[in-house]
Amino acid sequence: MRDLSKDHRWFSLNTATVRRQGSLIEIVDACARHGVRAIDPWRDQVAAVGLKAAVKAVRDAGLELSGYCRGGMFPCDAGHRTDARDDNRRAVDEAVALGASCLILVVGGLPQYSRPGSAASKDLSAAQEQVADAIAELLDYARGARMPLAIEPLHPMYAADRACVNTMRHALDLCDRIDPARSGMLGIALDLYHTWWDHELYRQIGRCGRERMLAFHVCDWLVPTTDMLNDRGMMGDGVVDIPRARAAVEELGYSGYVEVELFSQRWWSLPMDEVISTCIERVKTVV
Ligand code: ZN
Repeated sequence: MRDLSKDHRWFSLNTATVRRQGSLIEIVDACARHGVRAIDPWRDQVAAVGLKAAVKAVRDAGLELSGYCRGGMFPCDAGHRTDARDDNRRAVDEAVALGASCLILVVGGLPQYSRPGSAASKDLSAAQEQVADAIAELLDYARGARMPLAIEPLHPMYAADRACVNTMRHALDLCDRIDPARSGMLGIALDLYHTWWDHELYRQIGRCGRERMLAFHVCDWLVPTTDMLNDRGMMGDGVVDIPRARAAVEELGYSGYVEVELFSQRWWSLPMDEVISTCIERVKTVV
């Protein structure tokens, strides 16, 4: 297991963590001030400043991208299928332009929430089948662009509206089905906020293997959690045994970035520099 206590070279900032404090350009500038080497930006943040300006800012700062958030939201009715497909292809193209290591996939839930305007459905199984088909289709495109796709299993409280793939087992079953050859082009983004509770977590990390462990996201689970979306904890403030999980991930041979991703009203209310300093300090001491 790597020693992260000496410096923060393996820290990556998911830019949602400070999305309320500034634009992507301002976040990139702050990263330069703090010696941060990598970020994972969101599509809306890139769109707000324009792809060209985002690419230039990232390049000028010498930043790597530990991922690009996000593609997915696949389930939809027939009338929205072309839109969903084209939107995901654009996400792949943007990830390529930005030099991301992978495109994170938040796969979507029921059609009416994944692609608003779609006819309402309660058929979660059908949504899950659509996800499998759509990832297979997108993977063909992503292979051509040489952009790996990382399925991020989300906590089951988001099954209806954000992701109907909720466990590592389900995500890895999809990888087995869609990419049995383990080409390295389809894998997992393991986010501990979503997966820490799973009694199979360690078994499934072992099953994942190095070639499918594409991204590693950390924050903490607060008790009590007061908001389903925007009350993630800073590492060390909750109950997740982060070092144990990191050890298991690195046991596979994973040597990539440890990405901090918080959606938190509390941390959004603090100055950007203070939040980044705290992330770095916690990565060094409790991750
Ligand atoms: Zn994540």
